[in-house]
Amino acid sequence: MLDLGADGILFDECLHHSPALLCFDTTHGHRYGAMVYANDTELIRRFARRSQAVNADFLFAGEACYDWEFAAYHLSYHRSEGKKHLPLTRYLLPDAPLMTAVTGFNDRNMINQCLLYRYIISYEPYNFKGSLDDFPLTVAYGAQMDALRTALREYFWDGEFRHEVGARVTCEGEPHHPYAVFVSRTSGKPAVAVANYDAQAAITVEIALDSGGPLARYRLVDDPEWRAVADGVVLPPCSAAVVVP
Ligand SMILES: [Zn+2]
Repeated sequence: MLDLGADGILFDECLHHSPALLCFDTTHGHRYGAMVYANDTELIRRFARRSQAVNADFLFAGEACYDWEFAAYHLSYHRSEGKKHLPLTRYLLPDAPLMTAVTGFNDRNMINQCLLYRYIISYEPYNFKGSLDDFPLTVAYGAQMDALRTALREYFWDGEFRHEVGARVTCEGEPHHPYAVFVSRTSGKPAVAVANYDAQAAITVEIALDSGGPLARYRLVDDPEWRAVADGVVLPPCSAAVVVP
């Protein structure tokens, strides 16, 4: 791969080694009952020694890296489809590059999830077997989302991820999910990303910051018009908004 000039690798299924947890074959030079996982990071460290000489920025990405694998891997890839997904790895490593699979033909909610948890989009039509033009709706919506969070990167890319800490979001008086608070590292001000995963109903949500400070305006991923927050944030089905000071 180094000879071919690749910029990095994604080690698929590096997270497991078949069902075995321990190895009892002492002819391998280790003790009886050694952990099969014990050298997972050492493997990548040795790869890295070889890539360093060729490309100092060579990227090591792994699938669903567990916590201490991040000592060797730069990026973790996972699959997080599901309306109740909890971004636990984002909790563990607020600044790590995390990437998730987006597989649907109009997969707005997974794109919305990427905005909420600062996930990199992995476009995967037909589960790795297609090409980008197999799902133009997903690609178009993803491009809009990436452009939006790049324009507002102070919050949604470079900001500090706080998940639901710092704001309360309600819909008709009841708690609403999902949403995420990002705090600017330059101004200290919070902004909120909020999504409506429902496929049928539009909703209006109210956002209250714990600080009591105001949020002024919002816009949807796929509508460039900014609107005032004062009357609530209107979210069409399968949509997300960024709400900023
Ligand atoms: Zn062994």
